[in-house]
Amino acid sequence: MACPRHRHSCHKCAPNGRIGSKDFLSDAMQKTVLNVAILGSTGSIGKSALEVIAASEGKLRVAALTAHGQLDLAIDQARTHQARWLVATDTVAAESHDWSALPADTELLLGEDGLRRVAMADEVDKVVAAIVGSAGLVGTWAALEAGKTVALANKETLVVAGSLAMSLADRTGATILPVDSEHSAVFQALAAGQRDELQRVILTASGGPFRDYTSEQLSEVTVQQALSHPNWSMGPKITIDSATMMNKALEIVEARWLFDLAPEQIDVVLHRQSIVHSLVEFVDGSIIAQLSPPDMKLPIQYALTYPERRRGPAPRLDLTQYQHLEFQPPDPERFPALDLGLRVARDGGSAGAVLNGANEAAVAGFLNGEMRFHEIVPICKSVLDHHQYDSQPSLEQLLEYDGWAREEVSRWVCA
Ligand code: NAD
Ligand code: MG
Repeated sequence: MACPRHRHSCHKCAPNGRIGSKDFLSDAMQKTVLNVAILGSTGSIGKSALEVIAASEGKLRVAALTAHGQLDLAIDQARTHQARWLVATDTVAAESHDWSALPADTELLLGEDGLRRVAMADEVDKVVAAIVGSAGLVGTWAALEAGKTVALANKETLVVAGSLAMSLADRTGATILPVDSEHSAVFQALAAGQRDELQRVILTASGGPFRDYTSEQLSEVTVQQALSHPNWSMGPKITIDSATMMNKALEIVEARWLFDLAPEQIDVVLHRQSIVHSLVEFVDGSIIAQLSPPDMKLPIQYALTYPERRRGPAPRLDLTQYQHLEFQPPDPERFPALDLGLRVARDGGSAGAVLNGANEAAVAGFLNGEMRFHEIVPICKSVLDHHQYDSQPSLEQLLEYDGWAREEVSRWVCA
């Protein structure tokens, strides 16, 4: 496999560019059973990850689960998968919850301390980072500090702190493997060439439910309409992000850090069928794509079994069912979020934390009925425009930027 960061071919290399890493050789290749911690197990990605583990014929085992809400579901998951630990990250909800059904063999841990503990535990080989939003940063960070292999769904970690996260992984020997379907596709397609033969990466976007709406129609969108994605079944936050196309903006930034790309090397194309998950163009003009039905179990499994491929529960593609695979340029007028993604990929520094914080607050405002759909992206742009840019913020400063951006949005909502 070609390493995206190195000039030569290296088939053991992860996106963050380590060759024949300790983790891959000792864990993925020598151990027969890998212990997995799923951060955010009650969410859409978390549940799909549990399906992948259940279908792994004992090669993957659940070590730890974490949940913020839906604590009864989390207890069921702990029982079904015989988890060693269950972390309830919302300490207030956990205090008033009836834990009598928790299996005796499962230890209950609380809050961020619990999250950090399981993400760093010696017994854990791989961490699935599937918490939504910048709240996912704590667990992802702990896993990277401990040098774990991280199957990364939580793109917000790289949007907020991509530069610091990639350096941390380099320092500790941690490996980041993409779960996001587009980035998994790019990772797989990069295997077809050498790093210095890479021309550009083309991320596909379904365009969400409103891809054909006029600007007038976009101003009337309801919460219920925005939560109905035509191709994917996902958690509410990413479903709204897909509808505004902020999800693709965040994915541009994610790709920039994950594969060490120049922003000019990242293009986006609308592909309404969500069958081609992304493409890589090499200098000779060859374009390599990865195709599969729109189902997250495949990229989750690839991140968990890499560098191997195994049979699994993901549905198979029947190409005869898709007589048209269409590709068209996105319309930046109706979907201005894409420009924000490119801008943040170019600017780096504090820009990602500000865009992400503003977007999370604006999406929450929309879901709560405090904001209109078509206001989400302009608010994010305005907050980004007005922030005091810092080119090299620390992690603490990034978290302050995140809080500042959220407050700016809430002032807007109250005005
Ligand atoms: P979801 O809303 O379905 O699940 C979120 C999970 O995070 C739940 O387990 C919830 O309990 C937990 N959580 C929520 N707030 C928390 C907090 N403050 N602290 C700790 N835990 C918290 O979300 P999802 O759709 O599964 O997405 C998870 C992540 O994966 C997001 O970063 C998303 O962008 C990314 N992702 C999702 C998909 C998808 O198909 N769902 C695809 C690509 C990437
Ligand atoms: Mg995606």
